[in-house]
Amino acid sequence: MTNESILEVDGIRQEFGGLVALDNVSFNVRKGEIHGLIGPNGAGKSTLINVITGIYKPRQGKVSVSGTKLTGMRPDQVYAAGIARTFQNIRVWPELSLFDNVMIGAYRSSEIQPWNALLRKKKLRQRVAGMEKATLEALATFDLDKIADRPAGSLSYGQKKLLELARAVVASPTLLLLDEPAAGLNPVEVGNLQERIRSLVGGGTSVLVIEHNMKFVMGLCENISVLNFGRKIMTGTPSEVQNSPDVIEAYLGSTSFQNSKKS
Ligand code: ADP
Ligand code: MG
Repeated sequence: MTNESILEVDGIRQEFGGLVALDNVSFNVRKGEIHGLIGPNGAGKSTLINVITGIYKPRQGKVSVSGTKLTGMRPDQVYAAGIARTFQNIRVWPELSLFDNVMIGAYRSSEIQPWNALLRKKKLRQRVAGMEKATLEALATFDLDKIADRPAGSLSYGQKKLLELARAVVASPTLLLLDEPAAGLNPVEVGNLQERIRSLVGGGTSVLVIEHNMKFVMGLCENISVLNFGRKIMTGTPSEVQNSPDVIEAYLGSTSFQNSKKS
């Protein structure tokens, strides 16, 4: 991890009608870092990922990646800028094969969109071959390559979550945003997931991860930002966060604390 920021979130405000979902939220993710984002249910964590990825346009504030301003970009442009994500609720195409589910994620650069007639045939073939290779590698990273031809609908819940991860990493993102990747996984799968995420970071990807499973977050993240009612309470190391009276109070005041301890 260096001191160089990959992601800068600066003064974000997001409103839904009269509800202020994010209020002046700022923090940085450093290059090569695994950064946690925690907070009780409804704190604004998923909303923040939706702001970063261009799904919501914030009322105030700015998001940049490696100095490039993302605010105002469409989701596909944010993806092309090297930011990939997984969703809190699984989104895979059940009738498509694992291979096709991941191959879809490989279409990152607009240059290699299938409808681009300007590319010469040979060049296009080379690009597609490259994407197929990347797809198999991404599947292999999550032990899914041997069953690449199976329909995604036939996978277990835990495997579907891994499939989403494979799709998110196939285009070698510089920043990966994960919304509750460990939810619903058994302890063995959670440990396995930790290892995989660490190895992605070793390969040059930085990670921002939302997760309720405290053991997972505390064991994986170098720094953690804590949201409560749309405001950032603090950014700190796992031990600073665990010992912060403000953080403890935020969780004690919420029913999700018990759930987070259980999951
Ligand atoms: P978290 O992921 O931390 O549990 P969310 O970001 O999903 O929280 O939600 C933050 C707040 O914003 C909640 O009060 C939620 O009900 C509200 N909210 C989120 N998305 C929308 C939306 N599209 N329209 C209206 N309210 C929303
Ligand atoms: Mg959420």
